[in-house]
Amino acid sequence: MNVYYDRAQKAHAPKHFLVSGAPQPSPEKPERADAMLSGAVNAGLTPVVPPDAGLGPIAAVHTPEYITFLSTIYERWQRIDGASAEVVPNIHPDRRDGAYPKSAVGQAGYHMADTACPISADSWPAIRRSADAAVAAAQAVLAETESNAAPKAYALCRPPGHHAFADMAGGFCFVNNSAVAAGVLRSRYDRVAILDVDLHHGNGTQGVFYARPDVLTVSIHADPVRFYPFFWGHADERGSGAGLGYNYNLPIPRGTADADYMPTLDAALARIAAFAPGALVVALGLDSRADDPFGGLSLTPDGYGAVGRAIAQLGLPTTIVQEGGYLSDDLGPTLTSFLQGIA
Ligand code: ZN
Repeated sequence: MNVYYDRAQKAHAPKHFLVSGAPQPSPEKPERADAMLSGAVNAGLTPVVPPDAGLGPIAAVHTPEYITFLSTIYERWQRIDGASAEVVPNIHPDRRDGAYPKSAVGQAGYHMADTACPISADSWPAIRRSADAAVAAAQAVLAETESNAAPKAYALCRPPGHHAFADMAGGFCFVNNSAVAAGVLRSRYDRVAILDVDLHHGNGTQGVFYARPDVLTVSIHADPVRFYPFFWGHADERGSGAGLGYNYNLPIPRGTADADYMPTLDAALARIAAFAPGALVVALGLDSRADDPFGGLSLTPDGYGAVGRAIAQLGLPTTIVQEGGYLSDDLGPTLTSFLQGIA
């Protein structure tokens, strides 16, 4: 199995972050990538630098005005007298069906769900390379299906993506790399499933595919009743229109550990098997582990290995896309355990 990653992804180094209103260092640090690359190599994966995929796969998921925003907002922001070093919103629309704002400040509020995704001069190139990793991993899976019924590839995406909607950043995420990978897989398969095992609900991924029956979105996460992202991730969010029934949320109690996690995973896998997708995307958050700084769930590295083995039982071509998971001793070893399990 290959790990797709480019060191240029480390250039994005967000500073601004608030916890319950208080300024804190952002946990989405560039050094996360080093720990996860080591974890992948220790699992026997081969590092590959992804080619430039261009904007096409991103434009298949995100709106033109949002892509223009991501690629130009930093320079426009710097022309404002007294503006902050990073683009951070300070006003949000009450509804998103009104006029599109012309000003940089208005657009920052329109295109950012929260203040956890500041944009600096180095952000957009790093975001692009993170998406390139997802595209390369999905393409590698497609290329291998001739010789292997269930090929797998791992995209070390950083910054992550699953909180990014079609036209809105949020929660450290800008381009939804899991959705981008699903789009690439859809070029071959009529039905693709996304299984999100990040600690936090994959609200952006849900939003991208909410009205579509061709991409099943399944997320296991800490109950959002008192946890980010609060407004999404509840069990009664099932899709809309033609997509009704193709979004499956499995909120679980804070502190859930390995043994109690597995029945929920089994339910998720049964739903995916019944959908009979041609391929799978695993939105791999490593922040459900016990020693993650967010402290929401209590999986062990061995538990992640069991999760990987269970997912492999689906026997599907699988693109693994890195989502959350923050610095502590177990970050790399947890990735190693998951990758060994799914391989
Ligand atoms: Zn997360």
